[in-house]
Amino acid sequence: MKYSQETVIRKRVAILGSTGSIGTQALQVIREHKSILEVEVLTAYNNAELLIIQAVEFRPNVVIIGNDSHYEKVRSALSVFDIKVYSGHKALEWVVQMDTVDIVLTAMMGYSGLLPTIKAIEAGKPIALANKETLVVAGDLITQLAKEKGVNIYPVDSEHSAIFQCLVGEFHNPVEKIILTASGGPFRGKKREELINITKEQALKHPKWEMGAKITIDSASLMNKGLEVIEARWLFNLKPKQIEVWVHPQSIVHSMVQFEDGSVKAQMGLPDMKLPIQYALSYPSRVTSLNPRMDIASCTNLNFELPDIETFRNLGLAYEALNSGGNMACILNAANEIAVSAFLEDKIGFLQMTDLIEFCMGNISFIRSPVLDDYIQTDTETRKIAKERINSLILHN
Ligand code: MN
Repeated sequence: MKYSQETVIRKRVAILGSTGSIGTQALQVIREHKSILEVEVLTAYNNAELLIIQAVEFRPNVVIIGNDSHYEKVRSALSVFDIKVYSGHKALEWVVQMDTVDIVLTAMMGYSGLLPTIKAIEAGKPIALANKETLVVAGDLITQLAKEKGVNIYPVDSEHSAIFQCLVGEFHNPVEKIILTASGGPFRGKKREELINITKEQALKHPKWEMGAKITIDSASLMNKGLEVIEARWLFNLKPKQIEVWVHPQSIVHSMVQFEDGSVKAQMGLPDMKLPIQYALSYPSRVTSLNPRMDIASCTNLNFELPDIETFRNLGLAYEALNSGGNMACILNAANEIAVSAFLEDKIGFLQMTDLIEFCMGNISFIRSPVLDDYIQTDTETRKIAKERINSLILHN
């Protein structure tokens, strides 16, 4: 990405996925910075109760509930206010194009972020990107479109925000490599045989970050880091071999950039998503935050170790998908979404998630230069094959 400077004005924000972990933290950021940020649009898929509470507090212009069956409930609860209520995915694709939206925060889950993000970029809206799957699925298409439209994509993912923060003022300087840090998740140091019977309760306990269920499982399996490698490739226009992953259990160094003169810049801070969210919304300004400050005395023992990709094969699969190009990362992502849901429903074990992804990568037709329709079809086909595979595994157990 090339980042143009924007003047600091009050920004009207559309939050797609306002009831999730990133969405609720974004609203906390906006609550603390009402002079520069206001809520124009709130959307959620299922959580009508929380969406109503948020709408009453922030009084957006438009609210969208994805699931039609909750439409009447949301509409009637908000009818006394001057708030327009819609439902369905078409509404989502339309709302991001409204003249009164200055920036779109994409914080919905998984593949569902793709089409609204494309519509927002087509309408020239800057994106605060929390939905990494969008870039994993169709990074070439999204970044090409953003370039054509002159639209900036600001990373919200903490590692990518760290890299972005290291690059500000250096966009003209070539990057030698980046180092993405990983906490290692709850199973760091464990071997394959110890992971066979891991339960979802164990996998849902992340040592450093409070997040939604899908990303927490992705963190435990290291798929999250794999998706982030692909996300970084597209955001910062890097080759796969320029992207390294190091496990850093303290989660203080959020990532690093090494420039061609050998200088390494790191961005540090306490693990708190409110900072990257705030920076994506306030860039190029840094605005005051009341969040707790890092105590430098507690940073005397920062460790870095290479990830164990023999045990956590997902990270290797992500590099493979990146090297293959085409629709392979789209296959990886769809298979992973199905795998994580099946794991959360106790249908498959922890290690079987990786087997399923690998199976799909080897069995879905590869398309070297996909267009949007190819991605949509690949996603549909992969989900179908993955579900069939899970059913046949269950039958044979
Ligand atoms: Mn991250």
